[in-house]
Amino acid sequence: MVSRKGAIQFVRGAVDDWMDFAFPRSCVSCGDLLLKSEMEICWVCFARLPFSVHEYGINNPVAKSLWGRVPVTGGYYLLNYQSRTMTSKVLKSLKYDGGVIMAKKLGELMGDELLRAGTLMHCEALIPVPMHPKKELKRGYNPALLIAEGLSRSMGIPVNQSALLKRNATVSQTKKNRLDRWYQTQHSFEAGRDCSSLHHVALVDDVFTTGATAERCLRALYVGGIKQASVMSLAFTV
Ligand SMILES: [Zn+2]
Repeated sequence: MVSRKGAIQFVRGAVDDWMDFAFPRSCVSCGDLLLKSEMEICWVCFARLPFSVHEYGINNPVAKSLWGRVPVTGGYYLLNYQSRTMTSKVLKSLKYDGGVIMAKKLGELMGDELLRAGTLMHCEALIPVPMHPKKELKRGYNPALLIAEGLSRSMGIPVNQSALLKRNATVSQTKKNRLDRWYQTQHSFEAGRDCSSLHHVALVDDVFTTGATAERCLRALYVGGIKQASVMSLAFTV
């Protein structure tokens, strides 16, 4: 006799099969149809992604970009980013096309790589770069949070969403004068309530370009009372 759990699994599988047939998914990079076991990118494209060769540490390019700007304990990133490449397609799908499974999987992979290198960082919390609540509601999710959740799953470090807060929505930068832009840049993040109880945290973001966002976040966290900060980014602009 089929158990209740078995029957539910059978129905779920049948619905998934029907969804794949009715709404076939395609790879965000090459456009080929995806297998049920694949995330938003096919395994062939996944294997060809430009993975970073840099280990976690103070000499990682992510950390180096922040030297002389704000204290940083170490940095790490998974993918080299260039516009119009596979990484840019992956990031676009994370930001706009609901690449939820992929964001978590890539975060998990980052965590696996850090663990393999024996890098535990003695870090107490993973802090995703916050998105303004209105923007997050519109998009449906914050990619940085999904990446942090993947990292947390493999590393066992908790995600903390209340230590760092976004203060106000970023209005179109082109519509503001230089002083407005400076003010916006200086004041867009603030420390949350449980920041003072944390010693070493890791800031998590989807892409690291100039480091301006990471710098602002870290400044807010130090004001809030943390002592050490690392920066983890899924991709780094090379
Ligand atoms: Zn593909």
